[in-house]
Amino acid sequence: MKLHEKIKNHYKEKYASSPIEISNEEIDFIIKHECKCDNCGKSIFEMENYPETRDDKLLCDDCYDELCSLAKECMKYVKCDTARISKPCDKMFLIIGFNRNTKDDESTITIKNNQRIDYDYVQELVVASGYTKEELIESTKEYQRLCGITWEQYFKELTQKK
Ligand SMILES: [Zn+2]
Repeated sequence: MKLHEKIKNHYKEKYASSPIEISNEEIDFIIKHECKCDNCGKSIFEMENYPETRDDKLLCDDCYDELCSLAKECMKYVKCDTARISKPCDKMFLIIGFNRNTKDDESTITIKNNQRIDYDYVQELVVASGYTKEELIESTKEYQRLCGITWEQYFKELTQKK
């Protein structure tokens, strides 16, 4: 059986939740990721649930949950509306987001039929990174601390460290 068909059947028959039809793009995506979780290497054929895809990553349920709960934990230490973790390589990056509306932002103006259109969006920025959970949390705390101090204080600290 061709790999393509094998993946399609697996989606139909083996996953616990209700069967969903998988698109060809999704199948190509899975094949591109060698049919396994990018984080722990678990094969999609061994998973009991659909793999999650995010930031061009294929993740098993466990890894996805782990990153989600870690992102939630980081949210305790930093002021933001949303938080997610991207793991493009071995290192994790915390991306925080703020709910915004274009009406408050003069730099993004969308005009359609001579009328200004406003919409909600999430402004995201990368604020912390780490190879381990502890490092990431430390880095998050440090970011929030730096948000609370002035540049003068920051430079004073830097010179004191030397
Ligand atoms: Zn995994």
